[in-house]
Amino acid sequence: ADTLQFQNVSKSYHTSSGPIEALRDFSLQIAEGEFISIVGPSGCGKSTLLSMASGLAFPTNGTILANGNEITKPVTELGIVFQTDVLLDWRSVLDNVLIQPEMRGLDRKAYEDRARSLLDKVGLGGFEKKFPYELSGGMRQRVSICRALIHEPPILLMDEPFGALDALTREQMVMELHQIWLETQKSVIFITHDIQEAVLLADRVVVMTPRPGRIAEIIKTDLPHP
Ligand code: ADP
Ligand code: ADP
Repeated sequence: ADTLQFQNVSKSYHTSSGPIEALRDFSLQIAEGEFISIVGPSGCGKSTLLSMASGLAFPTNGTILANGNEITKPVTELGIVFQTDVLLDWRSVLDNVLIQPEMRGLDRKAYEDRARSLLDKVGLGGFEKKFPYELSGGMRQRVSICRALIHEPPILLMDEPFGALDALTREQMVMELHQIWLETQKSVIFITHDIQEAVLLADRVVVMTPRPGRIAEIIKTDLPHP
């Protein structure tokens, strides 16, 4: 089963003006297929949690386990979506979705059908040959979601994915993400400033304290689970 487990994780950064304690004693186990939202003030270590789940940063204390194994190096089949999309404007929509397999030297053809079906799922069927600069902000984030899902990552990590979108698009994207979650039954960690969004989408909402980020409370929603 795909699980992710944070065990008493703390993280400090060393800076020229001394250490910054970003995160303190964070423990959480994410079950297979579970949708977790994390809300909390700026600087409470939310992005740090995702970096560590990706193997791009490591805890100062504590352990992070993916399927029971400690994460000690960058996770290769990473599925992550950032607030600002990082699409390459000189590549078509389809080629953007296929970046990861291509960079890893995998057979592109083997992933093309999956890329097309993901694009279809988010309403971008027919947009494969467009370029990112031809798309709206919402459409660009939809492409980012497809790219994150191309490898069937065990867990989808999202860092304020809708933060830069207008309210209406945002609302629409929340509904779509919920649909994608129902269909793929993927575990998700979703970081947001928006408590309403957090509650709408998640099985459990983790509320963080100001820095150093600790878990203030975990709210269980009564969202029907797939
Ligand atoms: P959030 O995503 O909740 O806003 P972050 O995880 O980005 O919080 O940051 C937590 C704290 O750690 C902040 O005070 C931030 O300035 C600091 N921080 C994050 N990354 C680094 C880094 N690479 N070096 C030094 N300080 C950092
Ligand atoms: P969003 O779905 O991100 O809110 P918009 O409100 O900008 O998108 O646009 C609404 C719809 O208009 C889109 O879902 C899409 O079908 C169409 N559209 C927007 N921009 C383009 C474009 N550059 N080329 C073709 N169709 C577009």
